[in-house]
Amino acid sequence: MFEKILIANRGEIALRVLRAARELGIATVAVHSTADSDAMHVKLADESVCIGPPPARDSYLNVPALLAACEITGADAVHPGYGFLSENARFAEILGEHGIAFIGPKPEHIRIMGDKIEAKRTAARLGIPCVPGSDGAVVDAAEVKEIARRVGYPVLIKAAAGGGGRGMKVARDESELEVALATAKTEAKAAFGDDAVYVEKYLARPRHIEIQVLADGQGRAIHLGERDCSLQRRHQKVWEEGPSPALNADQRDRIGGVVAKAMAELGYLGVGTIEFLYEDGAFNFIEMNTRIQVEHPVTEMITGIDLVNEQIKIAAGSPLTISQEDVRLSGHAIECRVNAENPSTFRPSPGKIAYFHVPGGLGVRVDSAAYQGYSIPPYYDSLVGKLIVHGRTRNEAMLRLRRALDEFIVDGVETTLPLFRDLVRDSDIQNGDYDIHWLERKLAEQD
Ligand code: ADP
Repeated sequence: MFEKILIANRGEIALRVLRAARELGIATVAVHSTADSDAMHVKLADESVCIGPPPARDSYLNVPALLAACEITGADAVHPGYGFLSENARFAEILGEHGIAFIGPKPEHIRIMGDKIEAKRTAARLGIPCVPGSDGAVVDAAEVKEIARRVGYPVLIKAAAGGGGRGMKVARDESELEVALATAKTEAKAAFGDDAVYVEKYLARPRHIEIQVLADGQGRAIHLGERDCSLQRRHQKVWEEGPSPALNADQRDRIGGVVAKAMAELGYLGVGTIEFLYEDGAFNFIEMNTRIQVEHPVTEMITGIDLVNEQIKIAAGSPLTISQEDVRLSGHAIECRVNAENPSTFRPSPGKIAYFHVPGGLGVRVDSAAYQGYSIPPYYDSLVGKLIVHGRTRNEAMLRLRRALDEFIVDGVETTLPLFRDLVRDSDIQNGDYDIHWLERKLAEQD
């Protein structure tokens, strides 16, 4: 097992990793920018190292500084959290070259899944159902037209190097094709330095359903059920829950089985999420995330399995000790991402937290690195904390969420708490009746 883990991240996820390491008896090193000297992860870690000025490219993305911090502190492993360097295959390789373990998948798998065309091809080869569309990159409008005729309009043109919903353009009919293709290519080139694009059928009202997997790189893999992340704004997840109100046990077992088998065959290592758009009873693969995700607590609450603990043990070379039969889904969990943002305009609201009170009680979990008197810096994401509730049924979880949201107080900065207080009382949400465009439609009605 590792002796000392350096956590190459900040905020609530740095704390999350620190907690798992501590329960395993592993020492922790926090790294931080000069803007984060007073951050909770720095206060709680066994040691800390300042790795640079506020901008992320000079600190949390600064590979030489991170390597130096490992060297100085004698850390034998690095946990990247999510975001920052978590899906950077080269970073994982560099650590390996220095004899430091990367707590994450093998670099080749990060690389495959980071290229959306390669990812889709690999998924299809492994028997995972994909969105109908082009087989690889498309070059000209004539080719796109032919594909669109085959799969039917509307179609979506997507950047191969895409991320964060950028470089995506819809063409509703043939007349919109050429412009959509040209704009998608230009945007892709500007955002990612690569203008390769591919085509998919545009699904009108799908749900976003993702399967959590755990694999040991030695041919064993299990799935831990799904999370429904259909409530999104600008392709960013806002609310996640599990199990999905749209799936039954048979559908779950079937798709979970397909995914686990595929990951075993790939020799995948660590935690991963296979994301699907689900419409009319069909699963359509869109991408795989090769890291721990923001919404992982939903799965932890319904399975009782500590995903970060498993991630660390697997990275240290342990085989998977949990079998598929050991995984029992119990009750229902919902997560709300509470951001320091204006709840109507979603403009970031950094600043000092004057008063901070988190809810508690049975089935309530708050993953947050905020505290009273803490100043949220303007340089990073605006997450104040994640409120996760668990109940024996979805209804119980909803009632608990309503109660917990009313207890949550954050003064001094604006937060999205009022948005969640509305959502939990909405009849569509109460009925579990929503798709990936629901929230945008709702917000547009309020304008
Ligand atoms: P990114 O990596 O940029 O986040 P994804 O492929 O994960 O790109 O897609 C992001 C979001 O875009 C999805 O969650 C969904 O809301 C929408 N989307 C992607 N592909 C399709 C599609 N074929 N049809 C409809 N919506 C889609």
